[in-house]
Amino acid sequence: MNLCNPAYVRELLERYSLAPKKGFGQNFLINADIPARIAGSSAMGADPGWGGGYPCDDENVCALEIGPGLGAMTRELSELFSKVVAVEIDRGLIPLLSETLGDCDNVTVINEDFMKLDLSEFLREQFGERPVRVCANLPYYITSPILMAILEGMKPSEKPQVQSITVLVQSEVADRLCAKAGSSEYGSITASVALCGTAKKLFTVSPGCFYPAPKVTSAVCQITLYENGIRDAFEGLPEDDEALDRFVSKVKKLIAAAFAMRRKTLTNALSGISDKSKIEAALERMGMRSDIRGEKLSAADFVKLAQELEKGDEAHE
Ligand code: SAM
Repeated sequence: MNLCNPAYVRELLERYSLAPKKGFGQNFLINADIPARIAGSSAMGADPGWGGGYPCDDENVCALEIGPGLGAMTRELSELFSKVVAVEIDRGLIPLLSETLGDCDNVTVINEDFMKLDLSEFLREQFGERPVRVCANLPYYITSPILMAILEGMKPSEKPQVQSITVLVQSEVADRLCAKAGSSEYGSITASVALCGTAKKLFTVSPGCFYPAPKVTSAVCQITLYENGIRDAFEGLPEDDEALDRFVSKVKKLIAAAFAMRRKTLTNALSGISDKSKIEAALERMGMRSDIRGEKLSAADFVKLAQELEKGDEAHE
């Protein structure tokens, strides 16, 4: 069975009276090197190059795939991880997946909309305490919401159960996820991701590798979450867990407000959250001009700004 052979894919879909559904972002991989390389990147924590990768060196680590489609990448994951759970929204694909994954004893397919899951509960149910790596050829229409749902699904104060997210996305989106503060690609998702981990663009994938072919080039991006949560990455954070979770919500609010009004200065964009004078004073203490725009601030700068604003509030109490 070669799930990436275009003739076989067409025959398989026809046999189940299916056709790729645009509404579910169905662009199936038809170049066998790609699912092998993505699954390998997830298992090894780095791009193995062409030819796939080695099994994950920790038997305890599991894989979660979003949108298995016909099962091409699921089969690769099944070779590299001791346990794989794949969540597929399209009910029509479930009988087909029973056939294509029938011999993969370590794979469980779940017919669900990933966006409707309570992620932390789902992870606990499926994997217990075991660490998880997420792997997906994501539907383009829902890439950012899915990434945000994963990142938001974990408490900043806790060691994240998800160790990494390896995803095939539009190349432009991969650039945005990995962008430097101040660049034109930098946005709220970049800063939000940087609060949780580091993102790296691994390799590009041309439209001809998919059926049907999308109009744009794609790329694989890997987000490696901070091993012990946000405390690994930023200084001066609250020691108390609840206080830390509250503090990170404030940072996220700052990021959302700063990018909701990208053209405004940061001081104006944040005027609904704090007094202008306090924001200006906080920026001054950070050595930043009061007319700076939010897109110039890195995640670390947003953390510092939240700390300075709290200091300003305490001084007024
Ligand atoms: N993994 C397959 C591959 O690489 O060939 C298919 C990738 S295709 C781009 C995206 C897959 O995600 C489809 O199978 C689609 O039905 C599924 N999907 C779309 N939205 C979903 C959602 N909200 N929850 C779970 N699966 C979803």
